Amino acid sequence: AAPPEPQAVETAVNAAYEKYRTLHEGKNADYIPALAQVDPELYGIALVTVDGKVYTAGDIRSEVSIQSISKVFTMAKVIEESGPQAIFNNPGVDATGQVFNSIVAIEQYKGAEMNAMVNPGAITATSMVGGTNYDEIWGRILDYYGEFAGRKLAVLEDVYQSEAATNQRNQAIGRLMYAYGRIKDNPDRATDIYTRQCAVGVNARDLATMAATLANGGRNPLTGRQVLKPDYVPEVLAVMATAGLYDDSGKWLYLTGLPAKSGVGGGILAVSPGKFGIAVISPPLDAAGNSVRAQKAIADISNALDGNPYAVK
Ligand code: GLN
Repeated sequence: AAPPEPQAVETAVNAAYEKYRTLHEGKNADYIPALAQVDPELYGIALVTVDGKVYTAGDIRSEVSIQSISKVFTMAKVIEESGPQAIFNNPGVDATGQVFNSIVAIEQYKGAEMNAMVNPGAITATSMVGGTNYDEIWGRILDYYGEFAGRKLAVLEDVYQSEAATNQRNQAIGRLMYAYGRIKDNPDRATDIYTRQCAVGVNARDLATMAATLANGGRNPLTGRQVLKPDYVPEVLAVMATAGLYDDSGKWLYLTGLPAKSGVGGGILAVSPGKFGIAVISPPLDAAGNSVRAQKAIADISNALDGNPYAVK
C-alpha cells in the first residue's frame, strides 16, 4: 500500500465536499440535550496520509463531541496496557446485532459475547484502564486520545454535564455489567469516566489524524510518535470493522471495506491501512445513528482513491 497522489486526493475531497454540501437528510441526535443544539450545517472533511500530508475541505476548526468514536481509543489503551487477549476475553469481539445501548444485548449472553463499540462493552473497557483513582484513569485516557490526535484535547463541559444529567440508561448498563461480573468494581465510576470520554471535543482534522495513526501502524504521521504497538493495530481495526457503525456495520463494510467508527456527535473516521485516515463531521444522523453526509463523503473519497483494502489492484 502507498499513500494516494496529492492531486487525486484534492480532487476527491473537494468533489465530495461540494456534492454533499446541499444534502440535508437526517437529524441531530437529541437524546443528549446538548447535541440537539449543535449547528446541523457544520460540515468538514479531513484526510491525513501515512506520510503526513493533510487535506481538508469545509469547517475543520469547529469541534463536536467525539462520542462513540472514543470507544476505539479506550479499547486501544486497554490493548496497549494489557494485550489483545484482554479485550478478546472481555467484553469480547463479536457483533451484538442490537442497538448500541441495548440491554437485550447484555442479557443475551450474560454480559459476554459482545464488543467494545457498544455501550456495555465500552463502559467495561473504560473500567479496565489502569490507574488507582478517577483522576489518574481519566488523565491516562485523555492523554492517550491526545497522542492519537497530535494535540492536547479537552472535554466540552456542556456536553458532559448534559449527558451526565440524562444518562440513567448507561448507569443501568454499567451496573448490569457489574452484576454479571464483567466490570470488576466501581461501575458508576466507569460510567462517569465513559461519559466524560464521550464529551471530548474534536475537529475533523483531529479525527483524521487519529485514523491516520491507525492507518500508519500505530505511529502518528504528524508527530512521529508510536502510540500503539504495530502488532496491536489489526485487532483494533477488526473490532471497528465488525461493529464500528452499529447495526449498519455490514452495509458500511460492503460499500467501502474500511474499518470505521461513528459517533452521535456527527463524526465518522475511517482507516485505509497503509494509505490514509479520513474523517468527516456533519451532525445530522440517519436512523441507525450514523452521520448521513459523513458516510457518503467518506465512501466516495475512499473509493476514488482505491482505499478499500480488500480491492487489490
Ligand atoms: N455517549 C453516547 C452514549 O453513551 C455515545 C453513543 C454514540 O455515540 N453512539 O449514548
